[in-house]
Amino acid sequence: MSSTPEITQLVKSTRHLRDERESKREIINAIENGIIVLKPDLKIQFINDQAIYLLACNTREQEFLGRLTLFKNKKCTIPFKLESWLKSIIETLSEEPLELNIWYRDPNSLKSHPRCLQGKLIFSRKGKIKSLLLSIYDRSLRARADEQKRLMQAAFNNFNGQFIANEKGYIIHPNDSFISMSGLSARHLKEMTLMHWLELQVTLKSDTTGLLRTLLETKYWSGEVELHPSPDLTFHAILTISMIADDDFNIEHYIVTLQNITDIKEAQAQLQQMALYDTLTGLANRKLAKELISNFLKSHLRSKNFSAILYINLERFKSINNAFGRKTGDQLLAQTASLLKKILRKGDALARVGGDEFAVITQDKATETEEATRSALKLARKITNKLNQHYLVGELTLYSSVRIGIIVYPFSEDDNADSLLNSADLAMSEAKNLKANEKIYIYEPTLSEDITHRRQLEIDLNSPELDTQLQLYYQAQIGKDDVLHGAETLIRWQHPTLGLVPPNKFIPIAEESRQILKVGAWVLYHAFMQVKKWAAIHPNFNLSINISPVQFHETEFVKHIRELLNHTGANPSNITLELTEGVLISDTESALDKIEKLDRLGFKISIDDFGTGYSSLSYLQRLPIHELKIDKSFIFRVPDSKEDVAIVESIIRLAQTKNLTIVAEGVETQEQVDFLRKQPGNILIQGYFYSRPVETEVFENVFLTLDP
Ligand code: C2E
Ligand code: MG
Ligand code: MG
Repeated sequence: MSSTPEITQLVKSTRHLRDERESKREIINAIENGIIVLKPDLKIQFINDQAIYLLACNTREQEFLGRLTLFKNKKCTIPFKLESWLKSIIETLSEEPLELNIWYRDPNSLKSHPRCLQGKLIFSRKGKIKSLLLSIYDRSLRARADEQKRLMQAAFNNFNGQFIANEKGYIIHPNDSFISMSGLSARHLKEMTLMHWLELQVTLKSDTTGLLRTLLETKYWSGEVELHPSPDLTFHAILTISMIADDDFNIEHYIVTLQNITDIKEAQAQLQQMALYDTLTGLANRKLAKELISNFLKSHLRSKNFSAILYINLERFKSINNAFGRKTGDQLLAQTASLLKKILRKGDALARVGGDEFAVITQDKATETEEATRSALKLARKITNKLNQHYLVGELTLYSSVRIGIIVYPFSEDDNADSLLNSADLAMSEAKNLKANEKIYIYEPTLSEDITHRRQLEIDLNSPELDTQLQLYYQAQIGKDDVLHGAETLIRWQHPTLGLVPPNKFIPIAEESRQILKVGAWVLYHAFMQVKKWAAIHPNFNLSINISPVQFHETEFVKHIRELLNHTGANPSNITLELTEGVLISDTESALDKIEKLDRLGFKISIDDFGTGYSSLSYLQRLPIHELKIDKSFIFRVPDSKEDVAIVESIIRLAQTKNLTIVAEGVETQEQVDFLRKQPGNILIQGYFYSRPVETEVFENVFLTLDP
């Protein structure tokens, strides 16, 4: 049979219709939701595979609805009648969909699964109910998807600013983060192109042409930028632009991400600042100082120039810190730093290189070392003049001064930042040993040996032989009437290889390492034994013993002294304990308490090196003090210096009003003795004029045999 064109046409359209229905079915089956289309009499018109799966009806029977095992909740035992719910939808005659959460229980496994049913009436054009569309989905999946969506949204909004720009570059989907970062409204942004926004708000590290070139070449650009939402606000961010385009470069859109890294940048900057700058004074720290020295050194070696490092130490800082607390110490350091800044010349670098140490790295470009030395000395003198003064810290007036070590460099072929700074430090330590009025020391090569020497001493202080190497020397104290009053005991260290080591060389080391506790205990024991022996023949003999602040601050100090008294049988009325002003000035209850206890035990308390410490003398009112020892730096220029004469006289007057004994230290000349003899009050003279500190036997031979 030959087919007519009509038949061919009919076959074609039937096939087309079948194909179309088939593809619709495919689409409907691919939908995640289950779909059931019911006639108004609830007969099934269509059901997709997903619905069969979700309701496990396993059948296409018309009556399956009545047999479904659905429950209102998970544990419910009475099945829910789906039919009546569907009927109730039809009765509403409403276009609004109705939703029902239900549990489907698998009759085989008896496991329950949450399902959501949605029923919606479909009306004909004439308004008659055509069918009822029932859509079913798995609630557990939906809940998970919702959660995921919420998370994504949160992530999208909280972390990165993001937008999509269309093929023409117009911003179409800015997220909340981007809107708040840019400070522009969503409407404003939508009228803007990506390029326009870049020009308006973004500073690139390189130029825009580079960005465009990379974007065109690789469809991707990422880099650090600065974002300026307003003139006074800057964000640091990582900007990423991805261009979505096909292989022919037909641009579809751009995805732009902006990651705010301002916090990271600030933390980085802070870390950098902390790593190189001192937080208290804001000055360069030791690390940065070394970098600067290193750079200067290189430049000097190239240009054959010289400059200097001034290493400055704030004298007595440690005792101020101990006595008044850290806050006061910090304020004093800050004041010193700002004073130093004012004194320095333009270009000179200032650093805080230690707790109470500063360094000036000068920028001289002297062609000769002599010239650099002269210039450094001039600056050092200016600093000592300006910094030796009274500081007002809170309500306290503190006297502070500095010692300065200088190194002029390049110094030797082995120079480096470390060695130069250490040498300047050494020169400063040497400056500390100078007389009170000479405060500056210029580095000499022999000083380097001192470093090793000091380390050696620290190690040797731990030697088990130390006890046998220590020795007490005695220096006489003579009254105005030329009669022996007693002596001060001064420690010496007979070192096996170095010979006699004076206390100034090892006491500070021992104090730093707290080995002074052991040394101090040794001194007390031997001094107590000695004074007991001498007092047996000369009952009024008095022995003065130096007490280190470290020793004094020990909690058990008084207890230890009491035990020693019992152990040795020494009489405290023959003993004066010499303390330095630093420990006395402290208002701490424990210092006060200790001194009162020592007084009650019968000891006399003396203030050593009086006059070099603090201007505040209020402790003289509060504490049971018996004696002031005028520091040798004041005696040194008496009677020639009018100023020093005035100081000594006023100390003596002060002592008289408080009925204190005066000991003048460092008396070397007849003139000094004559001057002191003319002064009123109880004055004792100690110094080379009468005797240097000497060994026990010598002291006994010279001073004790003549007496009774
Ligand atoms: P200091 O207690 O002020 O002792 C006085 C220092 O001046 C002693 O130095 C003494 O030898 C020195 N001296 C005495 N007369 C004269 C003089 O006429 N001219 C000059 N230029 N100097 C004079 P030394 O013995 O080197 O002791 C230095 C410091 O070491 C002492 O100063 C004291 O602070 C400390 N020291 C000494 N022995 C001990 C000790 O057993 N324990 C503690 N903790 N420190 C001690
Ligand atoms: Mg002393
Ligand atoms: Mg002294």
